[in-house]
Amino acid sequence: MKYVSTRGKAPAATLTDAIAAGLASDGGLYVPAHLPPAFEPADFDGSDSLADVAAALLAPFFEGDALQGELRSICDSAFDLPLPLRSLATPGDHVLELFHGPTAAFKDFGARFLAGCMSRIAGAQSRVITILVATSGDTGAAVAAAFHRQAGTRVVVLYPEGRVSPRQAHQLGCFGDNVEALRVDGSFDDCQRLVKQALNDTDLQREVPLSSANSISLGRLLPQMAYYAHASLSFFRTRGVELNFAIPTGNLGNALAGILARAVGMPIGRIALANNANDVLARFFAGEDYVPRNSVATLANAMDVGAPSNFERLRWLYGDDDRLRKAFEARAVSDETIRETIRERHDAFGELFDPHTATAVHLLEQLREEGADGEWAVVATAHPAKFESIVEPLIGRAVEVPEALAGLLRRPSYAAAMPADYASLRGRLAAGR
Ligand SMILES: *Cc1c(COP(=O)(O)O)cnc(C)c1O
Repeated sequence: MKYVSTRGKAPAATLTDAIAAGLASDGGLYVPAHLPPAFEPADFDGSDSLADVAAALLAPFFEGDALQGELRSICDSAFDLPLPLRSLATPGDHVLELFHGPTAAFKDFGARFLAGCMSRIAGAQSRVITILVATSGDTGAAVAAAFHRQAGTRVVVLYPEGRVSPRQAHQLGCFGDNVEALRVDGSFDDCQRLVKQALNDTDLQREVPLSSANSISLGRLLPQMAYYAHASLSFFRTRGVELNFAIPTGNLGNALAGILARAVGMPIGRIALANNANDVLARFFAGEDYVPRNSVATLANAMDVGAPSNFERLRWLYGDDDRLRKAFEARAVSDETIRETIRERHDAFGELFDPHTATAVHLLEQLREEGADGEWAVVATAHPAKFESIVEPLIGRAVEVPEALAGLLRRPSYAAAMPADYASLRGRLAAGR
């Protein structure tokens, strides 16, 4: 399988090169040159665990690549996480919990898979690859946890000092070893600008090979198909029907993986996307033009995105906007509704959701009112304990912290202070190699 740019002006690349590069040279996003022939559910007979399903599903995407022989072992270590599909109190409604990894959010799956790929790419090239990440919270922690002590890799995480939650800041600094946390005197946009500048610094890259781990990386996108495949196949085997999904959405990384899983033949029915008050997608699906905007701050802050970076891949997959609009729907959910949903589901049923997941819970409630039938799974993207300062006042009690997260919070944590200027970052990158 070869990978081409959504903008069509970069040469085709191998999977290894596409993962190492992140962005294509024409500024586009890498996509498979063609989709593999559609799978049938029976193709997965005998594949029971998440790692089994992932290895079978991803095989055509690794065909002919240097990593092909490593796929099975990358899957075995990346997907060694529980993936419960639980029923909710409302009939036909379920929740697919993606938050049982080390940092209690779905990004653990993609980050762990990417780390497995990167470590092997570095090993084959006998060099150390430095992964640069700008984070507003969740991504940096997942990447730091996934790459911690992975041979051949070093991680440098930049976050805006004082603008991530105390628990998030603690998580970013608690790894050490090959993971360095920098608290930047600036905004998230400053962090992102510094990372971009370093990634474009060809002189620096001659001494210090750099790569990124943001949500446009194929090494994160492709493996996320696996949990949709596993959940829908298990459901199809036992119940004989397709599963529909309601997905909390920001940059469209998670949702796009579900969409791709359906496109390659997984037994998935409808897909509905939940936005927070950042309603660029909701407007597009309601028939307006796609117009990126500045993001606004909401309770579901990992979805505060005004220009979803993976939108380009959706357009590639569907060719024209009218076909795309028919393939899904998207709705925006206000902070007030997020609060109401968390409180009401807790008080009525004892169910607990984080603010991101709550957007999709509300969307499903809305669809049911409008007559949607069938079996639906809300995709739970984070554990409520990660957002305790929002959830606890709404439900009037403490949220128990999962053991993996508690373990990280017990470790000492250190981040170096850095001004928001490129010379400082460049100096650190060159010195630490
Ligand atoms: C990152 C994140 C999202 C948004 O996922 P995208 O792939 O950017 O659409 C939703 N919920 C949580 C908890 C996240 O960390």
